Amino acid sequence: MSDKKIYEGKAKILYETDNPEEILVYYKDDATAGNGAKKGTIADKGIMNNKMTAFFFDLLAKNGVAHHYLRVISDREAIVKKLTIIPLEVIIRNVAAGSLAQRLGLAEGTPMRLPVIELCYKNDELGDPMVNRYHVLAMNFATDDELTAIQNISLKVNDVLKNFLKEKKVDLIDFKLEFGRDKDGKVILADEISPDNCRFWDSDTKEKLDKDRFRRDLGGVEDAYKEMLRRLTGM
Ligand code: ADP
Ligand code: UDP
Repeated sequence: MSDKKIYEGKAKILYETDNPEEILVYYKDDATAGNGAKKGTIADKGIMNNKMTAFFFDLLAKNGVAHHYLRVISDREAIVKKLTIIPLEVIIRNVAAGSLAQRLGLAEGTPMRLPVIELCYKNDELGDPMVNRYHVLAMNFATDDELTAIQNISLKVNDVLKNFLKEKKVDLIDFKLEFGRDKDGKVILADEISPDNCRFWDSDTKEKLDKDRFRRDLGGVEDAYKEMLRRLTGM
């Protein structure tokens, strides 16, 4: 296998493989917050996020959601379908928290009548600014049909994850998804699903079991990731 690095991001590294349609994803322990302003590491995060992402993608596949994960090949490595990433961060929210709570002056934990979908232009230098459907179409980030597919898949992912997590006594507060186009132009769910990009709260105590423990210096960061992995897989 060739080990040509394609890209190093904040949490993962992408490598070429011998198969031009597949790439290797390596999960690091590096953690950032505030668009890179705060940096640190979370012990074994890469191992736990690789496992949790594989678990969630398996669950989604069983529920008819197409995604990029092909196989896990080591603790920190997975092979995924190479996609052209659509430059959008798609945020799905069930309960007001984080930037939404701040923006609308709501207490964190305020329930909402319907899931909310927000679109952000994926651009670190600009701080991932929020955009709407008009911006996406005008800038040609995605087509109308692609946006409709993204919206439908996002709501389906939300239903599957929310219902599954409920049984594990976890509230799915919000999460971020990314999508890409495969070689036939089909929109496919990409990237990762882990405590790095989801807010998970214990259903009874509302304790945070996600990266907010790192972002907000709450302590117990590793233990929160471990607890999520345990609830999902029993590991
Ligand atoms: P960031 O780029 O925000 O620092 P990461 O460290 O997680 O984030 O880097 C992983 C990168 O891989 C992201 O930019 C993501 O868009 C990209 N990516 C995820 N899945 C795929 C895929 N299947 N094909 C190509 N790129 C992907
Ligand atoms: N999120 C993410 N990457 C980002 C921004 C947000 O994965 O660059 C996730 C975050 O983990 C949370 C959801 O998207 O689950 C909503 O985040 P929010 O907009 O509230 O941002 P924050 O409070 O982190 O600034």
